[in-house]
Amino acid sequence: MPGIPEIKLKAGREKSIRRRHPWVFSGAIAHVNGDPEAGSTVRVQSAAGEFLAYAAWSPASQIRARVWSFDEASTIDAAFIRHRVARAIELRRQLDLLDDTSACRLVFSESDGLPGLIVDRYRACLVCQFLSAGAEFWRDAMVSALDELLAPRAIYERSDASVRLKEGLELRNELLRGELPADPLEFTMNGVRQLVSIEQGQKTGGYLDQRVNRLRIAAYAAGASVLDAYSYSGGFALAALCHGASDANLIDSSADALRLAARQAELNGVVDRCQFTNANVPQELRRLRDAGKRYDLVVLDPPKFVSSAQQLQSGCRGYKDINMLGLQLLNPGGVLATFSCSGHVGAELFQKIVAGAAADVRCDTQIVERLSQAPDHPVALSFPEADYLCGLVVRLLP
Ligand code: SAH
Repeated sequence: MPGIPEIKLKAGREKSIRRRHPWVFSGAIAHVNGDPEAGSTVRVQSAAGEFLAYAAWSPASQIRARVWSFDEASTIDAAFIRHRVARAIELRRQLDLLDDTSACRLVFSESDGLPGLIVDRYRACLVCQFLSAGAEFWRDAMVSALDELLAPRAIYERSDASVRLKEGLELRNELLRGELPADPLEFTMNGVRQLVSIEQGQKTGGYLDQRVNRLRIAAYAAGASVLDAYSYSGGFALAALCHGASDANLIDSSADALRLAARQAELNGVVDRCQFTNANVPQELRRLRDAGKRYDLVVLDPPKFVSSAQQLQSGCRGYKDINMLGLQLLNPGGVLATFSCSGHVGAELFQKIVAGAAADVRCDTQIVERLSQAPDHPVALSFPEADYLCGLVVRLLP
């Protein structure tokens, strides 16, 4: 691609990009030749002038450029974007996730070679987030590619995530193409009837990364009394109840989430076995523990406690605290399914935190399963940051 602005890296700062990591930080850049527009393509060069990558320019962000391609012969244009979108859809087709009734993540940002683009599909409706200047720049091409490749009923934009502010982009929440069906939209996941509010739900409406894990915990559900802490709309509780759990207590600080959970429970004929508790989880777990309440299956699926390296210590304390409480709320022989979606907390560290919690409450435990995000949230090997979700199924030995 001739005639495009060039950015030259400082000497010695090309190592990560040579390993195909897709980010160029502002501190690695020595000069910019030309005046690239936000989101437009720049040519990334080493200090010696060698070609390294084509990338999208993000002038407002510390991540100053995000790589589209490491191949000098590439042309970054609408056809390139369409090809990447098609490649992402192909994986979900291979995983058999494109049926008419269910939901899946269609595009997962850097891991699908489309930095900043998230697309979730709920039946025939697509929900997009454009989270970087490059994704914003190619928004029309991305939307047209999705429209042509999948002919969805609607394409909706939920770019109301605060990371857009770091890219210098305003928040947006609007219909882009087609027409949304009645809200909430019903879909099925693991045979359970679920509801999603595309316009008002958290993130794109649902937490699709937990699809496989909900099915895994259902294996421990027969006859169990369940505590679903940080339940959102109750994905874990419903999976357990539909697989024979006796009852479930769903705790969330969002009243809207619990209203949606109640409607879902009704749809699945299990609402009589549910209790909905609108509360702050650590406080409520303490109260339940002190009241002598015990469960056979406790699920802890908190929001991200660690968003930056500075929050690591306080976040780890937060994880340890709720895991101690979770273990103390188990009946002997009971199972704790515990998660972290903080990318800064790797699986090894998370295991240490949970081990610390078990040691402090003086109980014997064993790891029965290690869990991670569903396969429609793949992890590019060059981009370990995408590997954000980890979980453990821990049994309290009787
Ligand atoms: N387990 C859910 C996803 C959980 S997302 C699922 O499978 O779909 C995290 C949830 O925690 C959100 O619903 C949010 O409203 C809730 N939350 C965040 N902080 C909380 C707190 N301190 N107490 C209770 N709920 C909280």
